Amino acid sequence: MDWPGSHGVRSQFLRQVLEGVWKNAAQGSSQPSVDPSLITLSSPNLPSEAASSSPHVLVTGGAGFIGGRVVHRLLDSGARVTVIDDLSTGQLHRLPEHGRLHTVVGDMTDPGPWAEAWSGQEPITRVLHLAGHVGVRRVLGDPEGCASSHHAMAQTLIETLGSMGADRRPGLIAASSSEVYRASMEPLAEESPVWQSSDPAWGEGRSTYAASKRTAELHYEAAGLPVLNLRLFNVVGPGQNAESGMVLPRFVEAARLGEDLQVFGNGTQVRTFGHVSCVAADLAELCLRARMPQGVLNLGGTATTTIEDLARVVLQISGQSEQLLKRVDPSQELGPRFEEVRHRIPNLDRARSLGLVSQPWNLAAIVNDAWCHHGMPSPS
Ligand code: NAD
Repeated sequence: MDWPGSHGVRSQFLRQVLEGVWKNAAQGSSQPSVDPSLITLSSPNLPSEAASSSPHVLVTGGAGFIGGRVVHRLLDSGARVTVIDDLSTGQLHRLPEHGRLHTVVGDMTDPGPWAEAWSGQEPITRVLHLAGHVGVRRVLGDPEGCASSHHAMAQTLIETLGSMGADRRPGLIAASSSEVYRASMEPLAEESPVWQSSDPAWGEGRSTYAASKRTAELHYEAAGLPVLNLRLFNVVGPGQNAESGMVLPRFVEAARLGEDLQVFGNGTQVRTFGHVSCVAADLAELCLRARMPQGVLNLGGTATTTIEDLARVVLQISGQSEQLLKRVDPSQELGPRFEEVRHRIPNLDRARSLGLVSQPWNLAAIVNDAWCHHGMPSPS
């Protein structure tokens, strides 16, 4: 499962950059205040220098829908945060002006943003990788571009973190996706079957997204990086872009405009939604833990519904007529490469055993919040 392209020159450049940065970091600097309950000392997973200093989290895609929320949570907890985002779908207004936030605008597969991100005095204690291309409409618009971009991002992380000594290397928390799982009528646990490169549909149409996420998971592990691969299930909330094709903002937007809510197929497909504020809280908490769990972790919410029922809740909350609910053939909207997943709900036992998913929102609360804040800058 090789990825195209050679990054040898970039790799050498990054190594030089990082060597310089760690020399700087070893000289020490000021320490911001931090919530001590979020930090456990004597962890084997933190770099030795970092263990004695404050949390400093590098968030790729930090100006995105999920990333913006996580950055707010990290800053509220007293952490230092550096964001790298190329603003392809990210928006700077999602980020606060804050003395402990450093934002680097640029493509994370280029060396420049990394050089700037690592040039600070405070060592980076964790990398949260959220940069990516999301939403079925966006992915189907350019499946190959989405896949090669995901591969380049993962390769950059492997080269950057892999070039550092183990004692200095921050743990990596990387956003994968529930799409890596094969279809199942049962709740999906971390050990449930996933797509394989030998599957005929691997890397075709919609599955290019799943294939690129799964390939990244495997490559981080093969590179021996300390990594937590997060399989995120549908994350929704205010500030999510309807253009990506994500179902809830699409329904809310249609209800606002008094247009049809287009339900694909017969509407009986089942999904579980989580509110972005809960997922962001869990992500921030994971970033601040000194003892980072490793391996694979499902993360999301518990609001399970059919898509037709989701449309009905949106119509009820918006006060619109049920006549706006329209069943459509998805191939007319999204083309012949679209394949529907009938049933996808998470088993969150591992996340709960780690103290996460402690206050999930129910469906009505999620839809009401999306409705009330639709089109507004996402509240922190
Ligand atoms: P988003 O589009 O709002 O955020 C992605 C961010 O990455 C954007 O800010 C974008 O500008 C940035 N980005 C893209 N390419 C970049 C590059 N080359 N360099 C730097 N920045 C770049 O999407 P989101 O919903 O916040 O998703 C975040 C992550 O979670 C993604 O990796 C996605 O695949 C994953 N995920 C999300 C969901 C969900 O329901 N939202 C579900 C499963 C997985």
